[in-house]
Amino acid sequence: MSDEKVMKSFLPSKKCPVCESLFSWRKKWACCWHRVVYCSSECMESAQANSDVQGKRSVDEQSA
Ligand SMILES: [Zn+2]
Repeated sequence: MSDEKVMKSFLPSKKCPVCESLFSWRKKWACCWHRVVYCSSECMESAQANSDVQGKRSVDEQSA
C-alpha cells in the first residue's frame, strides 16, 4: 500500500473556464467548493459580463 503520499498531497482542483488556469482547493472555499467554478471573482465577473442575459432584472427595482 503506497497511498499515504497521495492522500496527503491531494487537493481537489478545477480549471477556470475564463482564464483556463488550474486552481486548487482553498480553505475559504471549504463550505462551497462544489459551487466554485472560477478561480477568482474577476473571472466570475468577466464570465457574467460576457453573458449579460440576466442583466435586465434590476431595472424594475431602480424605478421604485
Ligand atoms: Zn480564472
